[in-house]
Amino acid sequence: MQIINPATEEVIQEVAEDTPETIQEKYQFLKEGQKQWAAVPLVQRISAIEKFYALLDERKDELAETLTKEVGKPVQQSYNEINGARKRIEYFIKNSAKWLAEEWITEEDATREKIVYEPLGIIANISAWNYPYLVGVNVFIPALIGGNGVLYKPSEYSTLTGLHIQRLLYLSGIPENVFSIVIGKGAAGQALLDLPLDGYFFTGSYRTGKYIAEQTAGKLVPVQLELGGKDPLYVMDDVEDVKAVAEAALEGAVYNTGQSCCAVERIYVQEKIYDAFVDTFVTEAKKLITGNPLNRETSIGPVSRKEQLPFLKEQVEDARTRGGKILSGGNSLPGKGYFFEPTVVVDANHSMKLMTEESFGPVIGIQKVKDDNEAVELMKDTPYGLTAAVYSKSLERAEKVMKQMDTGTVYWNCCDRVSAALPWSGRKNSGLGATLSYHGIRAFVQPKAYHLRG
Ligand code: NAD
Repeated sequence: MQIINPATEEVIQEVAEDTPETIQEKYQFLKEGQKQWAAVPLVQRISAIEKFYALLDERKDELAETLTKEVGKPVQQSYNEINGARKRIEYFIKNSAKWLAEEWITEEDATREKIVYEPLGIIANISAWNYPYLVGVNVFIPALIGGNGVLYKPSEYSTLTGLHIQRLLYLSGIPENVFSIVIGKGAAGQALLDLPLDGYFFTGSYRTGKYIAEQTAGKLVPVQLELGGKDPLYVMDDVEDVKAVAEAALEGAVYNTGQSCCAVERIYVQEKIYDAFVDTFVTEAKKLITGNPLNRETSIGPVSRKEQLPFLKEQVEDARTRGGKILSGGNSLPGKGYFFEPTVVVDANHSMKLMTEESFGPVIGIQKVKDDNEAVELMKDTPYGLTAAVYSKSLERAEKVMKQMDTGTVYWNCCDRVSAALPWSGRKNSGLGATLSYHGIRAFVQPKAYHLRG
């Protein structure tokens, strides 16, 4: 399999793909190792993760460079991602013992009762490329702390990062027969579905996620899906600083070149402040530096997958034919690399794919609304349910909107953020189950009820 740099289109490296046979061998190897790992005291398992946490910092220059070369992420954002992943790991280090400890329910009665949390066994972690560290650590860190074996399949677009992760975990003391990378594309993922694993934890598109849920349903094991979104951001007319809100919304839309699951994907602005908002938004969008992601000043890198360029162009053209005005960008850049200009479409509406289909790129539509009711109707008009953001001076007014959102996350005066202490979950086509927080610690263990008499 060739690893291609999306900024230069050069082959960085060739790696050998796993076959169903090598994946089967890895599974057999983990079967023994997982049992021994589960018997290792929890503090010792956590201590290995502490070493991994330190190594991520020590090696961050090398890791950031690989991430940028492989997925095209602006290098400053690669550093941010590694630091962000460390913060999540820190949360797991500090909180896992509390949530995995056995729980006494009744100690005085004739029958004493307690709950013990046991590992699931060997789980598949089938992952996405857009934040390989962040979405990876959501799964493999609590899984390992919980005593599981992990077959970790990074996306084919972030394989080298996956190999770094494996190397650093081994250096940290995670045994080779407890964690194993699976290299390849969809076929390698399919081979994992064909194994009798004890849980499937997936991050990626709705299409693949739904397929995995269907394929694994008969196994009756936990299946968790972190999928895409079409996340709305609504700006009410009472915001105090329209310019600051427009800047925050732009950052939420184009960070990671717009390739975030919780990126702002559509914006609604009340008519009184619409022109002022659009004015700042477009001015700031035009200032964004698109180019070599290895430069620290670059804010927009290439999109990671070549197929995304015609897809984004199609969304923009569809919007244009339906009355959208393109005030910035609109095209891919000539020459080498998969670059698409940061693109702002105003006068957008829901007849446009730009407002209804996940874009996953640096393009955004802005629609004018007359009041909160209209905004709520439009925000809810989606099969997705990951996040929704509201900007307003009034928490009371914002809360009325947030309560009506059928999403796993809501934001007041912020957007496009994830906290390790809060559950990360999507509703409807955005997913199933939660990672992070204590929910994301308990997701990798199963409760056993003890009834003790005598
Ligand atoms: P994808 O669905 O194309 O691929 C995800 C993973 O599934 C890859 O490792 C891929 O090789 C594997 N895969 C493909 N076909 C398979 C099959 N038949 N069986 C098993 N595995 C298979 O998604 P992607 O392009 O890597 O990621 C982008 C998507 O992920 C976007 O929709 C984004 O919103 C979503 N995402 C969601 C979250 C979240 O937390 N909700 C986080 C990051 C990304």
